[in-house]
Amino acid sequence: MKPFNHINASSLEEASKVLIDSEKKACCIAGGTDLLGCLKDELWLEYPETVVNLKTIPGLDAIREDEDGLHIGALVKLTELAESPLVLSGYAGLAHAASKTASILLRNMGTVAGNICQENRCWYYRYPDKLGGKIPCIRKGGKKCLAVPGDHRFHSIFGQVNRCIAVNPSDTAPAFVALGAVVKTTLRDIPIAEFFSAEHGKQSTVLEPGEIVREIFVPKTAARSAFTKIAYRKSIDFALLNCAVALCFDGELVTSARICLNGVFNNPKSCPEAEEFLIGKKISEETARQAGELALATAKPTPQTAYKVPIAERTVADTILMAGV
Ligand SMILES: Cc1cc2nc3c(=O)[nH]c(=O)nc-3n(C[C@H](O)[C@H](O)[C@H](O)COP(=O)(O)OP(=O)(O)OC[C@H]3O[C@@H](n4cnc5c(N)ncnc54)[C@H](O)[C@@H]3O)c2cc1C
Ligand code: SF4
Repeated sequence: MKPFNHINASSLEEASKVLIDSEKKACCIAGGTDLLGCLKDELWLEYPETVVNLKTIPGLDAIREDEDGLHIGALVKLTELAESPLVLSGYAGLAHAASKTASILLRNMGTVAGNICQENRCWYYRYPDKLGGKIPCIRKGGKKCLAVPGDHRFHSIFGQVNRCIAVNPSDTAPAFVALGAVVKTTLRDIPIAEFFSAEHGKQSTVLEPGEIVREIFVPKTAARSAFTKIAYRKSIDFALLNCAVALCFDGELVTSARICLNGVFNNPKSCPEAEEFLIGKKISEETARQAGELALATAKPTPQTAYKVPIAERTVADTILMAGV
């Protein structure tokens, strides 16, 4: 790996200042499970001069609940999220999503903020420099997308953003979207549904230069939540696609529904038609199946990605049944 300056930040203010003063020549690191791979493979057109370590900032690694909801510090590890009694009891879909992320070693290192800020896994984007030169695709500031004319079997089934069809790979992101979370940064509060964006070059979020996630807040909810991940390998693998659902009930009837797919579009994809359809209904195999079809009604797959549509339909239906029965 090429050398870089390493700064142990003692506060969010210090970390932000270093990032802003560097004029985009510095980046921040939490668990490093995504970032170090990007640096080692020299994916980007510009290599950072400085890496700012957030793990030395106190007070960002706790999960606490108050009357408003759940406060999850940016540095909370995925293992802690998966095993927290608070999360397991009131936000089961989120705990399950964290438990299905990567492997035990990566969950012990990887943080929740790193998980929602990670970069895409398009294999052209991730092509290592040492294997014949980096690929300067559109997402890195280049002119071409190699996936559209090439092999894009794992890519978007809902079209492009800025001619990029790479999907968002996060497992916790759809669970946070289904639970209506808010990302609290050093600058502002961002509703999670507005947090993801593939329009800012390589990064997957709307974060401004120097802006750091300090907490993810999940409002208190009576919703029953569930999460399903489909992947080729069980031991460790990114999702082919995943789905999170949160349902509220009055008796047996649904009063509110939130459904979010990931791995199917550049950003986590909410399914408003399916959500609306479920209101006032009792959950059954038939209503879940119909909601699954509605969730994918606007999909625009290519011949290479068409196989993902029935898998996504069934995954939505199964996740609704898990939350609703
Ligand atoms: C082999 C392998 C398998 C994986 N499998 C999965 C998987 O199945 N599912 C999945 O979702 N992910 C997976 N990942 C991706 C990744 O490891 C995890 O998403 C992890 O949660 C990233 O967290 P981190 O703390 O290590 O992030 P880092 O690598 O430290 O950072 C990732 C990105 O987030 C930014 N960042 C980190 N913290 C903050 C913050 N507080 N504010 C602003 N920006 C921040 C960094 O600058 C960087 O751009 C896998 C990774 C590997 C290497
Ligand atoms: S899909 Fe996006 S990340 Fe992949 S090659 Fe095309 S522009 Fe680059």
